[in-house]
Amino acid sequence: MSDTLDCDVLVIGAGLAGLQCARTLQRAGVHTQVWEAGDAVGGRIRTDRVDGFLMDRGFQVLNPAYPAVQRHIDVEALQLQTFGSGALVRREDRLAVLADPLREPAHLPDVLRSGYLVPQDLLALARWAGPAVGPSSAMKAGPDTPRSVSLDAAGLHGDLRRVVEEFLAGVLLEDDGSTSTAFTRLLVRMFAFGSPGLPASGMQALPQQIADRLHAPVRLGTRVRSVDQGTGRATVHADGLSATARLVVVATGAGAAEELVGLTAPATKGVVTDWFTMPEPPAAPRMLVLDGRTPSGGPVRNAAVITDTAPSYAPPGQHMVQASSLVRDGRVPPVSDVLRHVGELYAVGTGQWELVHRHEVPQALPVQPPPLRLRRPMQVSESVVVAGDHMDTASIQGALVSGERAAQGWLSRTASRTGR
Ligand SMILES: Cc1cc2nc3c(=O)[nH]c(=O)nc-3n(C[C@H](O)[C@H](O)[C@H](O)COP(=O)(O)OP(=O)(O)OC[C@H]3O[C@@H](n4cnc5c(N)ncnc54)[C@H](O)[C@@H]3O)c2cc1C
Repeated sequence: MSDTLDCDVLVIGAGLAGLQCARTLQRAGVHTQVWEAGDAVGGRIRTDRVDGFLMDRGFQVLNPAYPAVQRHIDVEALQLQTFGSGALVRREDRLAVLADPLREPAHLPDVLRSGYLVPQDLLALARWAGPAVGPSSAMKAGPDTPRSVSLDAAGLHGDLRRVVEEFLAGVLLEDDGSTSTAFTRLLVRMFAFGSPGLPASGMQALPQQIADRLHAPVRLGTRVRSVDQGTGRATVHADGLSATARLVVVATGAGAAEELVGLTAPATKGVVTDWFTMPEPPAAPRMLVLDGRTPSGGPVRNAAVITDTAPSYAPPGQHMVQASSLVRDGRVPPVSDVLRHVGELYAVGTGQWELVHRHEVPQALPVQPPPLRLRRPMQVSESVVVAGDHMDTASIQGALVSGERAAQGWLSRTASRTGR
């Protein structure tokens, strides 16, 4: 025997896309339910608490410059703790500082000494990044290509190219240069205009804020097994529970959407984040550290003393470093390699460092090759649409926009049917 519920809209999945969709619909007075397989909301944005430490399930940051974040999120309430605007770069002989001189004027002398200010390289970088920081129409000009092709075309080579590649590898979770240049420039634009950071109670506070503002609570622990796409109404089946709805929004992430409604899922990229604690933190400005050496000394694509930026992530007086490496063909590097590499990056001994937790996220982001396809068609049938970052851009911005778009689409279809 299974209970059957009725609603106007049933949203499957309480990640950012599903939550934003539900919130937009509920605000418009549509009877909307959200079913989530997990034990909490957030999807790929979850935060674990272990012995007073906060650890996001894979290092990620909130950029308040995302337009959808500005539209929908009360960023002030999240008490964002922001990283410095720049990066530390491990060179053979020292840790160089590459920082935005306007936002980090105190680091100007370090930047001048960094060894990266080669006029020819800076010009090439300006050629490549120019469209990212200019008018948004400039980003759409010309055909989209893989980022490695556009960096070559801009003439960016040498040490500065290596730093740019290393930074982007950690953001895009690939180091083969395959991601769309247009998407990469969108992200670079956000880094240029925003100061990313971590909410006081962890990244999960972002989806939790939307969930807390829903009229009806998310039904947790409810994994949808199948969706029957009827005419006029769809029926959704979970274990011991069914629902019929005029619209079902499949906001489950790409893999589950393929299983439930057959929409072909893109390939995904993975990351592994190791969280270490130590008696004394490395002494360094509160920025990400990258390996600028060729070849790189190990698997880590970026690391950061999290507690320098976000003291709320550890009990008072304790310290924590995150180190993120790519997952390759499902394989993750051994913790010992990660630890050795982080020690090299900061030039510190790590004999007394302890692993608090390792997060493996093999399906962190959908690939985003050229040409960039924003706003992919969401409608699968009359009663089913798909939302999620794989339908827009692989980001917090993309997930929020896709949820908003699914809701607005339904609202305008309903309005035109009823003549309102
Ligand atoms: C490690 C990592 C780092 C990242 N870094 C950044 C960053 O710095 N900046 C940035 O902008 N973006 C970043 N992202 C991307 C961003 O987090 C995602 O784009 C976004 O959270 C995706 O949201 P979503 O709602 O589309 O999907 P998801 O968050 O995947 O939500 C899908 C939800 O559906 C649920 N679900 C699945 N199947 C079912 C089912 N059958 N029944 C019921 N529920 C189901 C899942 O449990 C999940 O809660 C990162 C992602 C990861 C993993």
